[in-house]
Amino acid sequence: MSFCTDIKNELAELKTRDCCKTALIYGFALFGRSFNSKRICLQTENEKTAKSYALLLSSVYDVDVDIRRGGGKHPTFIAEVTSEFDRLKILASVDFGIYDGSIYREIFYRECCKSSFVRGAFLACGHLSDPDKSYRVDFYIKNEDLAKEFSLFLSEHLIDSHISKCGNGFRVYIKKNEMIVNLMAFMGASTVSLQYIEASVIKSFNNKSNRAINCDNANINRTVKASLKQRKAIEYLIKNERLESLPQELKSVAELRMENPELSLKQLANVSKEPITVSGLNHRLKRIMDIYEEVKK
Ligand SMILES: [Zn+2]
Repeated sequence: MSFCTDIKNELAELKTRDCCKTALIYGFALFGRSFNSKRICLQTENEKTAKSYALLLSSVYDVDVDIRRGGGKHPTFIAEVTSEFDRLKILASVDFGIYDGSIYREIFYRECCKSSFVRGAFLACGHLSDPDKSYRVDFYIKNEDLAKEFSLFLSEHLIDSHISKCGNGFRVYIKKNEMIVNLMAFMGASTVSLQYIEASVIKSFNNKSNRAINCDNANINRTVKASLKQRKAIEYLIKNERLESLPQELKSVAELRMENPELSLKQLANVSKEPITVSGLNHRLKRIMDIYEEVKK
C-alpha cells in the first residue's frame, strides 16, 4: 500500500468533534467534485474516504448517500446524494457559499475546525507521494482564486506551498519534507506522519552512504592511478640503471612503492620502516617523477 492510501485511511477514520463537522464537510464540498442542487458527490480512489463522507453527510443532515464502485484496474468510489429532495435539504442547511473561490472563515469555531477543513480538502483532492520517490503533496484545485486562497490559508498555519497550472485547473503543491510533516501533523495524521518521517530519514541516510561509497571509490581510483604512474617511472629508472645513482632517501621510497603497489600515501607512510610524514613521502615521490621526466628526455 502507498503512503497516500495509508494517510487517507488514517484521516478518514479520525473521530470528528461536533464543532468540526461543518468545517470538514466544507473541505469536502469546496474541493470535491460537485456540491450543488444538481449533484452532490465525491469521487475518490480511497474507499474509506467515500465511506466517511457518506457517513458524515447522512449523520449531519439525515439524508441517504449511495456509494458506487467504478473503474477497472484502479477502482474509484463515488459517494453521491441521489435524491433531489435530500440535496435541497442539505443546501438549505449549509451556511457557506461554495463556488465563490474564497474560503468562508466564519464557520471555523476553533483551531481544530481549521484542521478538519484541511483534512476534508486533502481527502477530496489531495495526493501524497511516497518519500522514497519524492517529497511531494499535491492538491488539485479547479480555480486559480481558490488555489491562491488555499495556499495562503496553509501559510497561515506554517505550511509553505506553491501553485502551478495543471490541465484545466491548478495545483497547490508542497515539496519540502518538513512542510509535508507540518501538514500531516496539522491534519492529525500522527501515525502515518511518524512512518513518513522514518521513511524519509532512511532515504536521506541511504543517499548519504551512497555518496560516501562513491567518494571512497573515487579515492581508491586516484590511489591506483597515482601508484601505477609512480611504478612505471621507477621501473623505467631501474631499466636505465639510474635508480642506483639516486640519493638513498629516494631509493628507499622507490622500493617502498614497488613493494606496496596498492597502498595510498598515508598507508605507505605507516608501513615505512624509517619514520616519514605523508607530505615528506609525497615530496620524495615527486622528485622521483621529476628525475624520470628528465631521464626520459
Ligand atoms: Zn472544531
